[in-house]
Amino acid sequence: MTVRATSRGAQRTSLEGTRAEVLICGASFAGLAVARELADSGASVLVVDRYEIGERQTSACACPTPWLEALGLSDSIKQELPYMSFTTPGGSVRYRLPWSWSSFDYRQLCLLLWDQCGQARFETAKVESVGEQHADGTIDVITDRGTISAPLVVDALGWRRVLSSPHYQPPQAPLSRGLEVHPDHDGSGDALDIWVERGIVRRGYGWRVPAGDEARIGVGSYDPVQHVKEPTVELAERLDRDAVRYQGNWFPHRLREGTEDEIFFAGDSAGHCFPLSGEGIRTAFYFGIACGRELRAVVEGRSDRSAALIAYQRFNCAHKRPFAVALALQRLIPTLPPRLLAALLSMIGNQRIVDRAFGWYLNQAAPQFVDSIPAPAAATARAAKTLSGASR
Ligand SMILES: Cc1cc2nc3c(=O)[nH]c(=O)nc-3n(C[C@H](O)[C@H](O)[C@H](O)COP(=O)(O)OP(=O)(O)OC[C@H]3O[C@@H](n4cnc5c(N)ncnc54)[C@H](O)[C@@H]3O)c2cc1C
Repeated sequence: MTVRATSRGAQRTSLEGTRAEVLICGASFAGLAVARELADSGASVLVVDRYEIGERQTSACACPTPWLEALGLSDSIKQELPYMSFTTPGGSVRYRLPWSWSSFDYRQLCLLLWDQCGQARFETAKVESVGEQHADGTIDVITDRGTISAPLVVDALGWRRVLSSPHYQPPQAPLSRGLEVHPDHDGSGDALDIWVERGIVRRGYGWRVPAGDEARIGVGSYDPVQHVKEPTVELAERLDRDAVRYQGNWFPHRLREGTEDEIFFAGDSAGHCFPLSGEGIRTAFYFGIACGRELRAVVEGRSDRSAALIAYQRFNCAHKRPFAVALALQRLIPTLPPRLLAALLSMIGNQRIVDRAFGWYLNQAAPQFVDSIPAPAAATARAAKTLSGASR
């Protein structure tokens, strides 16, 4: 059994009564992006996770290269992949993208992000639930090391949405499931390879992400009931690779509310993983940054919590359409006859169409957002307040 780094025994002193201005629950892509946005704001920021930072990789860790560059995370890149290939029973196509993917080292990326988080503190603790909300606005969060309180609380804890009640629970919840293996690799290949074959998985896809000395080969199913271990092993065998070093997780495929009961949600907890592609790292960064900017406006006295909740939820809602389009495609594509799918993929292969389609896709959470100057929070908040009923 894998033993993950976390504080144990005597290190697990009580955190009962700990207070912070901002409590960020979850220290992966979304949580660290929120904390990064609060660097040098002067606020006391506490980040908690059940494991040490960078300890538990759950994804193939492929992200658009421009995002890694914009965030100053290029040192974590293991391999750049300028191409994508799609294989169906009707044939294969290979596209040169207008931007590239890069596979990265999860631990290194998290530590690089953490370096950018200024004075934020970190504690390992398992977050269990939300407790009381006090008259002064502070919210209690119950952890296995005691109750921590803060007026600004972020749930970046992943698909389960721990600080909501009830949590999301498979197989009923709108979740996909993914499993991958990490065999040795020789660094060859320049494409992120995708398989859309019912013989592998009825509703979903298989992938291979070359990452320097390892390949990340896996299968995702949009249907949470369907197990993906057997298809993952079969895909690895087909690629002549050993099915070793397993990792897997659930991931959401439907956008959720960005706020609930005075709490901010970012990343998978808010359903920010893009349907169809199951790409959730870039979007966790993107919405994490948006959330962090609203929180920063509050701690700097330019906004208050109510206005920030409204503005962030408004930002979240503004992305409903592309998420709905991707979900519709996620439902449609598995129903297409393989020959039709192959014909469509080869039609899209025209470079101008590839550039437009993948340009549109990247623009749904564009890397320029990292350096964009946020709209003055007060103005955002004023505009947001005019939107009725948007706070939940
Ligand atoms: C097999 C697989 C492959 C994938 N590959 C890709 C890919 O290549 N590219 C891509 O863009 N997306 C990929 N995804 C999706 C992507 O992994 C997620 O969308 C992304 O990780 C979401 O980031 P997050 O920060 O919101 O949540 P997470 O990365 O899930 O982080 C949640 C954090 O919260 C912590 N936590 C959870 N519960 C608790 C608790 N109760 N108390 C304390 N801490 C807790 C966890 O330890 C973790 O650090 C993949 C998903 C799977 C399952």
